[in-house]
Amino acid sequence: MACITPSVLAALPRSLHLVVENLHETDVLIVGAGPAGTAAARVLAKAGRSVTVVDKAVFPRDKCCGDGLTTLGLRELELLQFDPITVPSWTTVDGAWIRSPSGREVCVPLVGVGQFAAVAPRIELDNALVEHARAAGATVLDGHGFVGIVEQSADHVTADIEGIGHVRTRYLIAADGMWSPVRKALGLAEPGYLGEWHGFRQYANGITGPAKDRLYVWFDEDILPGYSWSFPLPDGRVNIGFGILRGGTTRVQDMKTIWPDLLQRPHIRAALGPDAVFEGRHTAWPIPARIDHTVLTHDRVLFVGDAATATDALTGEGIGQALLTGRLAAHAILAASGLSVEATRNHYEQSVHHHLFADHKMSVLLSRVLAKPWGARGAVRVVGISDWTRRNFARWMFEDEPRAVLFTPSRWHRRFFRRPGTFGR
Ligand SMILES: Cc1cc2nc3c(=O)[nH]c(=O)nc-3n(C[C@H](O)[C@H](O)[C@H](O)COP(=O)(O)OP(=O)(O)OC[C@H]3O[C@@H](n4cnc5c(N)ncnc54)[C@H](O)[C@@H]3O)c2cc1C
Repeated sequence: MACITPSVLAALPRSLHLVVENLHETDVLIVGAGPAGTAAARVLAKAGRSVTVVDKAVFPRDKCCGDGLTTLGLRELELLQFDPITVPSWTTVDGAWIRSPSGREVCVPLVGVGQFAAVAPRIELDNALVEHARAAGATVLDGHGFVGIVEQSADHVTADIEGIGHVRTRYLIAADGMWSPVRKALGLAEPGYLGEWHGFRQYANGITGPAKDRLYVWFDEDILPGYSWSFPLPDGRVNIGFGILRGGTTRVQDMKTIWPDLLQRPHIRAALGPDAVFEGRHTAWPIPARIDHTVLTHDRVLFVGDAATATDALTGEGIGQALLTGRLAAHAILAASGLSVEATRNHYEQSVHHHLFADHKMSVLLSRVLAKPWGARGAVRVVGISDWTRRNFARWMFEDEPRAVLFTPSRWHRRFFRRPGTFGR
């Protein structure tokens, strides 16, 4: 880990100061080393740009998450030439068990050549992504928080970074999550905004029931609009939690009291088995999902991932969208190289529009249907009609194709739902 604090700087021979101080000038400064920031860093560094990533946390660090990787997330990781072997607890999933509010359970398969879904604990995945960015030549300085914007000029932005000082950069990518301190510093945060979803999760071990190997999604009537999940990990561990849409019947402040009750429900106990032991404390975090209502760029700053409110409004999943928007921001900077800052901003905004806007609208529409008990019951019934519906629903739910692909002919291709999975060829 490179850690350039003033005291470290002072201890270095003077001849090295210039080398170290060169870190204070970088082509692209990325704030946040989660999936969005590291994806952008990897693409830019591979293209030969000087990239510095700063994160206030020291890695490996945990992130409150379900740890589930959709096909979109996997395809993005594959594009980054990421190797799942670098994540020790990586668990491939070949189906999902979905339970409707009426108790009907349907298994949807995720099979074929390669992987369509996986579970990767964020403490391991994000650390591996940091190393992957470093391996491409990006400088990742963890333990250094963004403090504020010092100056914005026609051709530079200067940011104040804790323990480093002022960093001058041509572009700043804000990959700093739901609460995006960069967005706040620019006066672009909406007062009182708390995200569309709120997620709550815990790890458990000693799982001897079917949840040991199966991915479960449970729709219980009293937590609609929302659902609970159990995602399998090695050695009888699971990531288990629930998420609710804000403004529904369940209030965010009641999630903590609902949790023990949820874990006692017969279908959840049966899935986990009698020996489940819950680890450490549970954590909760907001999930922002309104990409079409967000300022995506500001002068030389591009927002990506949760900082761009990019998660899927239907499921609250955002790792794939974080990787995608990180990659798109990097491509926009590369594509508009030598052109105006407006060209970079337009490029990024148009590509986010192309890849995510129609899907977001579709997700919002569908989430209204799933919010009602009849909607959730009907959806699970329709999904279970035949092998064809089960197989293709699974692919669609796990974002093998964009949510609104049927309505966006510009994204049609010949191998609709017939593409092989990832990492398996
Ligand atoms: C309970 C829960 C369950 C979820 N389950 C899933 C799931 O199963 N699958 C899925 O795809 N998505 C899931 N999500 C959503 C997913 O976690 C996010 O969409 C994803 O983490 C976004 O990645 P990111 O890189 O944009 O931001 P983050 O992963 O939040 O990374 C932001 C980084 O910015 C850093 N940072 C913050 N402030 C500063 C600062 N001042 N200076 C420097 N660095 C800073 C943070 O330390 C952090 O490392 C879930 C979310 C929750 C809350």
